[in-house]
Amino acid sequence: MTKSRDDFSARTKLDLALRASYLCSLCKRSTVGPSDEAPDAVTMIGVAAHICAAAPGPGARRHDPTMTPEERSHIDNGIWLCASCGVLIDRDEKRYTANALRRMKRDHEGSRRLEGSDSDADGDLITIGQDIVAVGTVIRSGPDGTRVRLSHFVNGSGRDLWSLNRDFDRWLPERRHVLLNELGFGGLLAEPPVVERAGQAYEVLFRLKDQVPRRNAAASISSMSSEDGRMLHGMEAYVQVFESVLGMGLGTWFTDLGLGSDLSDLYWRYKGSPWFERLAMIEMIRLSSIPRVQNGLDAPSTPFLAVNRIDSVKVPSFDLTGQQLGIEVRFDLEGMGLWEHVLSVFVSTPEQLARDREKARLHNDKIKRIEGEYAKRE
Ligand SMILES: [Zn+2]
Repeated sequence: MTKSRDDFSARTKLDLALRASYLCSLCKRSTVGPSDEAPDAVTMIGVAAHICAAAPGPGARRHDPTMTPEERSHIDNGIWLCASCGVLIDRDEKRYTANALRRMKRDHEGSRRLEGSDSDADGDLITIGQDIVAVGTVIRSGPDGTRVRLSHFVNGSGRDLWSLNRDFDRWLPERRHVLLNELGFGGLLAEPPVVERAGQAYEVLFRLKDQVPRRNAAASISSMSSEDGRMLHGMEAYVQVFESVLGMGLGTWFTDLGLGSDLSDLYWRYKGSPWFERLAMIEMIRLSSIPRVQNGLDAPSTPFLAVNRIDSVKVPSFDLTGQQLGIEVRFDLEGMGLWEHVLSVFVSTPEQLARDREKARLHNDKIKRIEGEYAKRE
């Protein structure tokens, strides 16, 4: 048999999902959610459905023999749906005609956009708090605060934005943050942000707390190599810090479940998509500008220690060598200025992540129980 199905590429599927903000274009339900398998696991129930069927034959809906294979697997022929709506549109071809589906897709994607403009040309990623990720631009930044205009939600919605103030105290303290790809840095919010409607768009005004001091990258530091035990000095030691923080899955270190990064999760979810670089960059901004109290250190410090700003993040290839991913980074370092390097970051498989998180949680619970018993005895 020859190749008879014109399927979407992985990248087209991801782009469809992002343009729909991971919501079903028909019933508007979220297509990502927590999984029953593990508290940190994510289930994807979304499908990139064909408007005109990928292959002819019995059961194929809205198949158009005049289309070329390229047209059938093009993003224009796709619509993001939840699994049940995906089945529904294939059962009822009379109601869900190709034109009806195209209209539905246009309306849904349009409703996710705030200014009727093209999402990609509209700035870069902005993260507000733990749940809102939007595309937007910085309008003003001054001593009284920073003002951003949001044009497209990648995650979250206008409703989440309006509830920012009310829910502020409920956020995890270290997630009361704003991260800005356009500026390459972020910070903890000094107070709840102010949300305003500006025509069809939203504007958010916020003030960040003072930055915590960074280590001077030019001053001497040394640490032992985790690979072969030899001593690492200066930038070599910092590279080991960057690579180990990025290569450790969030929630896999039992004494501190907030340590690490979600780079491996991002890799499996956005591999092949241009969004990966932008999301990896925003994660590095978090690691370089959001302080946390780390074990054995008195003052809060940022996991990336000496990095003031993330200037750029590039992934030339998604191929892994062993389980290592090469990431070209340009950082602004305290005391040194711009610095470029290709980091080699360990990417855990989804199975490894699930297993390591489960193990870490069990150990962490045990420690808390023991601490609790000691506290009772005293
Ligand atoms: Zn649906």
